[in-house]
Order: sequence, then C-alpha cells, then structure tokens
Amino acid sequence: MSFGLPLLYLLCHALALALFPDRAELLSFVFLVGAPLLAAGVCLWRCRHSDMALAWLALGLGLLLWAGGMTANMIDSVFLDNAATTPGLSLLLYVLYGVPLIFALASPARETWQVRALDGLVAAVLGGLFFVHTFSFAGADGADAGGEGNLVMMFDVENGFIALFSLARFLASRTPASRGFYRAQSVYAFVYLGVAGYINHVEPQDAGFGSYVDLVIDVPFLLLASLAVYFPKGTTHVPVARGVVTMVRAASPLMLPMSLLVVSALITGRHPRLAIAGFVIATLGYGMRSVVIQLRTMAERDQLDALARVDKVTGLANRRAFDDALQREWNRARRSGEPLSLLMIDIDHFKQLNDAFGHQAGDTRLREVARALADATTRALDVVARYGGEEFAVILPATHARDAQHLAEATRQAIQALQLAAAEGHVTVSIGASAVEHIASDDPSALLAAADAALYDAKRAGRNRVAWRAPGEP
Ligand code: GH3
Ligand code: MG
Ligand code: MG
Repeated sequence: MSFGLPLLYLLCHALALALFPDRAELLSFVFLVGAPLLAAGVCLWRCRHSDMALAWLALGLGLLLWAGGMTANMIDSVFLDNAATTPGLSLLLYVLYGVPLIFALASPARETWQVRALDGLVAAVLGGLFFVHTFSFAGADGADAGGEGNLVMMFDVENGFIALFSLARFLASRTPASRGFYRAQSVYAFVYLGVAGYINHVEPQDAGFGSYVDLVIDVPFLLLASLAVYFPKGTTHVPVARGVVTMVRAASPLMLPMSLLVVSALITGRHPRLAIAGFVIATLGYGMRSVVIQLRTMAERDQLDALARVDKVTGLANRRAFDDALQREWNRARRSGEPLSLLMIDIDHFKQLNDAFGHQAGDTRLREVARALADATTRALDVVARYGGEEFAVILPATHARDAQHLAEATRQAIQALQLAAAEGHVTVSIGASAVEHIASDDPSALLAAADAALYDAKRAGRNRVAWRAPGEP
C-alpha cells in the first residue's frame, strides 16, 4: 500500500483552503465530494475483476450515495444559501449509504435467490425506516435538539454495525479475495466510525464546511481507495479456525434483522406504528429465511440419502439399500406370515471377461446383466440390488420356494439368451436360491447364508445353473 496519493490529496485540499480563503467552502466541498467518488470508482473497478464482485459493488454503491449526500450539502450551502429543502436529502443519503453495505455483509456469498430476496426485503425496510425517520426531522430549520441526538445515535449504530460486521467477516474469511476485501472494508469502516463520531460529537458541523476539520473527512475514503488499489495478489488460502467460521456463518443472517430491530427501537418514540412494523418484519424476515434454508437443507439431505442408496455403475439399489430392504421385508413377512425368497446371482468367469475386454466393457456387461435382472422381476415389491463386484441379489417377498426357483431358472435363461460376448462364448450367471415359509427369528442372516451357499453349490457344479438350499441346511 502506498500513502503517497492520499497525502497528496490531503495536501491539495489544505492548500486550496489556505490559498483561497474566500472560496474555502466551495473548494472544500469539491474535495469532500471527490474523496468518496474516488473510492467508489476504485471499488466499482475492483468489482469487475474479483470473486467478491457483489461486495465491492455494494461498497461502491454506498460510497456513491454518500457522495450524493455531500453534493446535496454543497448545493444547499453554496448555491441555495441554506434554503433548507435539502438538509433532509443529504441526511437521508448519508444514512442510506449504509444499507447496501449491511446487505452485502449479511448476505452470504452462496445463497439462493429466495434467501437473497428476503434479505433484500429486510434491507429495503431498514432503508425505509431510515428514510421516514430522517425526514421527520427535515423541518425548515433542521432538527430539534432531541431529534438531532437521536439521528446522531442512528449514525453511530449504523457505522458501528458496519465496522463490527466487517471485522467479523474478515476474521472468518479464507480466500485472498475475501480477506483482501474485508480487510479494506474493516480498516475503512473503523476509521469512518471514528471520523463520523468526531465530526458528530466533538466538532459539530454547525459552523458549516470550509475549515481544516474537513480534511479529517477525506481520510477514510482515501484510505479505502489506497487499500483497494494496492490489493494483495496472493493465491494461498489462509487457515481459519473452524469455530470462528461457524460462529460468523451463524451470526451473519442475524445482522440484518438485528440492525432493523435496533433502528425500530430508536424510532419507537416518534413512529410507534412503524417501529412495530419494523419489529414484525425483522422477526418474520428472519423466520422465513430460516424456513427457506431448512426446506432446502431437507431436500438436499433427501437427495443425498437417495444417492447414498444407489449403485453408481448399474443404477440398482446398492449394498446398503439391500441390507435395509432385506431386514424390512423380513420383518414384514414375519408379521404377515407370508414366505420370503432370496436369490444370489454371480456372473461366471467375470475376471476373464475383464481381462479380455477391459474394465469398461466389464462395466457395460454389469449394466446389461442388471437390466436383465430388473426385467425378469416384474413385481413392484421385488428388490434387485448389486450386492458387490459382479454379484447381485434379488429379494422376492411373498414368494414360495418353488416360484423362486422358477424365477431363478427363467432369469438364468434370459441372461444366456442375451448372448452377451464373454471371454469364451456368452455371459452366463450362477444363481443360489433360498426361501423361508414361516419366519420365527428376527435375523435374516440364515436366509442370506443359505442363498450364498447355494450359489457356491451352483459354481462347484459347473456354473450357469441354479442351486437351492433351505436356511440352516448344512
Ligand atoms: P466365477 O465364475 O467363479 O464367479 O469367477 P469370476 O471371475 O467371475 O470371479 P472372481 O471373484 O474371480 O472375479 C470377479 C471379478 O469381478 C474380479 C473383479 O475385477 C471384477 N469386478 C468386480 N467389480 C467390478 C466392477 O465394478 N467392474 C468391473 N469391470 N469388474 C469388476
Ligand atoms: Mg463371478
Ligand atoms: Mg463373485
């Protein structure tokens, strides 16, 4: 960062005041409008080349509003001779300056448009309350003492929020782009908080503009412009404690409603109805935001859950889904007294096929066999799963042993009839079948073991056949 240009700017401002004392007010205004415009220009320029585009844009927009406020001040005191139509306007622009900043600070980067729209609504209401509140003091000769104190407090609250929120976001940011942005905004916001506090509390501007005190007002904007221009170019992510990230992530959505609540509290005396509306919208906005996010999280969880139960290669139920389904059908059969059958299917000499044609061709064969199995079992309750490797399993609820054996034989023939090319001849499968007529235990493992043992019987007997075992059979 370089302080050369900011110092030069301040020097010019001071020289202008010293050399042209009778035009001091107008000249000072030019510098006071120029500083935020300069900073806004740099922010908008940054916005085109950064991952933090929205944040830079919001900051630039806020600064433009501020520059507008100062311009209104200038028109009023230099050209209209304090005719007092504009003090309200300038005050309003100064207050509104914070709204885009708070919105950007509160709205996390990755959110859906619904959530952003809700944040936008709360920000708009915040701006609206600022508006009403400010204009209620914009009488001919400005504010009464109590109202002015109230306004100054509103500025302090707004500036304090922006500084604290910026610092929090800085502490939780990892990427160079976000760290750079929030560092610039934090430094700026704290200096601005100090300067605004000094001007509003220590050195009230009653005397008007045109004194050396004005130089202080340039400082935060010039500082921001330099920080934004001399921006670190790093690419390494900074490690940030998980706790800090979680805390800021949890607190961010509270920033907007909290600001709205505080501002509503400040206007309760003068505008009780609006204050109540502010309380209601802050609460509802936060609640609706939470509901929207919760609904999305639930949908995502369901999606993940479904994905976690599907085999990627074949699209069949995977082992996990199979285990659940077997237990479920087992319990159901036990309650209803119906039989339950199980087939274990293994592709013959699949290793040779893989070796001969490659793994991709092997995967294609797996998909073809999977489709054949799904076609062979037509009842809605049947569950076809990939058990692992080139092994499949079929759960047949309410199916007697004889029917299961028939279905197994039909399936074996159907796969052979597909004439899928294998290392030697065509793809065939061996099938082990088992069934229970009346379930007494609560554990299906005996059925599984019997079907598995039957499968190895089929392999031992020469493959491409169906074998049968009853559960518990040695
Ligand atoms: P058997 O007739 O005795 O069943 O012999 P096999 O070659 O089919 O059985 P083995 O257990 O020796 O080999 C199974 C092969 O299945 C080995 C492994 O590379 C292959 N395999 C397992 N999972 C996949 C997969 O997802 N894709 C592919 N392409 N091959 C797989
Ligand atoms: Mg095999
Ligand atoms: Mg196998």
